[in-house]
Amino acid sequence: MSADVILAVRGVSKSFRGLKAVRDVSFEVPRGSICSLIGPNGAGKSTFFNLVTGYFRPDSGTILFEGRDIAGASPVDVAHLGVARAFQIAKPFPGMSVTENVRIGALFGRAGPRDVEAVTQSAMQLAGLAELHDREARELTVGQLRRLEVARALAARPSLLLADEPCAGLNPTETAEMVAILRRARDAGATVVLVEHDMPAVMEISDTVLVLEAGALIAQGAPQAIARDPRVIAAYLGT
Ligand code: ADP
Ligand code: MG
Repeated sequence: MSADVILAVRGVSKSFRGLKAVRDVSFEVPRGSICSLIGPNGAGKSTFFNLVTGYFRPDSGTILFEGRDIAGASPVDVAHLGVARAFQIAKPFPGMSVTENVRIGALFGRAGPRDVEAVTQSAMQLAGLAELHDREARELTVGQLRRLEVARALAARPSLLLADEPCAGLNPTETAEMVAILRRARDAGATVVLVEHDMPAVMEISDTVLVLEAGALIAQGAPQAIARDPRVIAAYLGT
C-alpha cells in the first residue's frame, strides 16, 4: 500500500443472517481527499461505516487504516488510531453548551490534556460555531446541530472523518456551509469519507465517488464520470 493511501479496503464482506449487506468490496481512499459513498437505501453504506469504525467485524477481507488492519478492532481502538464518525442524528447533551459538547469530543479524542481547550476552540471555529459557544445544545437548529456533530468529531483530531449524511435535511444555505466546513476539515489535515444523498453536494465536494448497490461496489471514479455511468443511472432509476 502506498503511503498516500489512508484507507484500503480489500475484499470485505458482511452478512446478516444470510443477507449479504456488503459483498467483496475493495477500494482505496487517498490521504487528503474527500470521497463520497452513494447508493440507494439498503445498499450497505451504514454497514460499511460500522465495519470501518469497529462496530461490526467483517466476515472476510481486510480494512487497512494507515497500513494497519483494523478489521475486528474495537470502536475505542479505532477511534484512538484516528477515525472519527459524525452521526446523521446528533445526540448531544441537550443541557450542555456548544463548547461543553465539543470539549467532550476533545477529551475522548487524541489531544493531550493541555491541548483540549485549543482543540475545542479550533473545532468550533472550523464548524462555524464560535458565536454559538454558550448556547445550550437543545436550542440549536437542525443545521447547527449537524455542525455541532461535525465539530465534536473533529475535536478528536481524527486523520479520517466519516460523515453520515451531513447534508440531509439541510436547506441550500446550510448545505453550502456544510460543504465549506468539510473542505476546511480536509484542508486542516483530515481525509473525509461521507455518505450523502444530496447529489449536487456530492458532485461539488468529492474527489472520488464510490457507488454501492445491494452491497456491491458497482462504480468508482471522479464525480463527472460517475454521473454519466449507465450502471449508476440504472441503479438510481431502479431499472
Ligand atoms: P444503507 O445505509 O446503504 O441504506 P445499510 O448498511 O443500513 O444500508 O443496510 C444494508 C442491508 O443490511 C439492509 O438490507 C439492512 O436491512 C441490512 N442490515 C443493516 N444492519 C443490519 C443489522 N444490524 N442486522 C440485520 N440486518 C442489517
Ligand atoms: Mg444508512
